[in-house]
Amino acid sequence: MSGDLARTTAGAPATSEQWKQRYGAALMNTFGPPRLVLVRGEGPYVWDADGRRYLDLLGGIAVNVLGHAHPTLTAAISAQLGTLGHVSNFFATPTQVALAERLLALSEAPDGSRVFFTNSGTEAVEGLVKIARRTGRPRILAQEGAFHGRTMGALALTHKAAYREPFEPLPGGVEFLPFGDVGALEDAMGDDVAAIVLEPIQGEAGVRPLPRGYLARARALADEYGALLAFDEVQTGIGRTGSWFAFQHPDVGAGVRPDVMTLAKGLGGGFPIGAVVGFGAAGSLLNPGQHGTTFGGNPVAAAAGLATLGVIERDGLLANVRELGARLTAALAQAPVVAEVRGTGLLLGAQLVAPAAARVAELALGAGFVVNPVTPDTVRLAPPLILTWDQVSPFVDFLTGLTPADLEDS
Ligand SMILES: *Cc1c(COP(=O)(O)O)cnc(C)c1O
Repeated sequence: MSGDLARTTAGAPATSEQWKQRYGAALMNTFGPPRLVLVRGEGPYVWDADGRRYLDLLGGIAVNVLGHAHPTLTAAISAQLGTLGHVSNFFATPTQVALAERLLALSEAPDGSRVFFTNSGTEAVEGLVKIARRTGRPRILAQEGAFHGRTMGALALTHKAAYREPFEPLPGGVEFLPFGDVGALEDAMGDDVAAIVLEPIQGEAGVRPLPRGYLARARALADEYGALLAFDEVQTGIGRTGSWFAFQHPDVGAGVRPDVMTLAKGLGGGFPIGAVVGFGAAGSLLNPGQHGTTFGGNPVAAAAGLATLGVIERDGLLANVRELGARLTAALAQAPVVAEVRGTGLLLGAQLVAPAAARVAELALGAGFVVNPVTPDTVRLAPPLILTWDQVSPFVDFLTGLTPADLEDS
């Protein structure tokens, strides 16, 4: 019965080509034409409307940390929806409380730390911006190449002109500093800086890690000037690097703790949820009435978060991320078309010997692999954390089998 209803809602089965035409006639053209029409997933694989299987090495952009249709996640979401699906934020639910406690424990948060739940990454960054404004200081220091989201506050912190300029004027006070330049940060600091906002590894800029030592220097400067240090871990958090959060990873943050951290992508294992964590005193800069949300902290989303974190821990996925990430990095670096592999754990950017990332992604799709041409010369991998070497090795064979001549347009 419910299956019939779902089928009626979507209409009769159609080919990928038919769905693409209907997509174009029904959805706003903000993403360009879709590459695939996907109907099903299991583990690290997805299937399109024509029955073709693909290894999903993008994972819904670092979202599907448990892969697709994970039984524990599915059961947790179904059970919560069948028990209590939504209440307003006039009321608390045990799942949201437990998830907030879990995030504070995993991030080794000091006393006074607090969590605010959202539905997305950009909303988590909006929370960060409002926390920064509550310092009473006007300036926010962001990085060139930064991506923090598409809503107006987060967009003000996003560097790419093509994303920002059609929507100006944006909220003011944001300055973009040369990427990873400690001297520029030192020069920019002052008593009027509310927050330094950093991605420990810039995802959308092509998997670009901040240089070693930058985060520690930013921490010291924030302390010296009484500013907040904020890490946007929407992409790097939730086990992606092989630590729970990138700031804890010995090769990334090396334990430099921010005052504010944003999370989303992987947190719900595919269910929409985000969070902004205020560490210590930053956890109480927003007071009653100063922020809100109807859906944020929804019990189903919170149950998804708890189940996702639970499976990562139960199945030892952080260790898998570290081991598989290292093995994959070493193997991909051997490919004749790869100049360099950047990133940590299972957030990897393979920089090609030519600006042919779109072509490689197209060839990969034809061979049954979903990867992302994140910049003209870099292919991004952000696969499920459950991925195994046996599952990914056909992709390694594919990429190492390409020659520089394959990168030229045919
Ligand atoms: C994806 C991303 C965002 C925006 O998240 P949405 O859920 O798409 O709004 C913000 N910051 C970083 C670092 C991201 O990678």
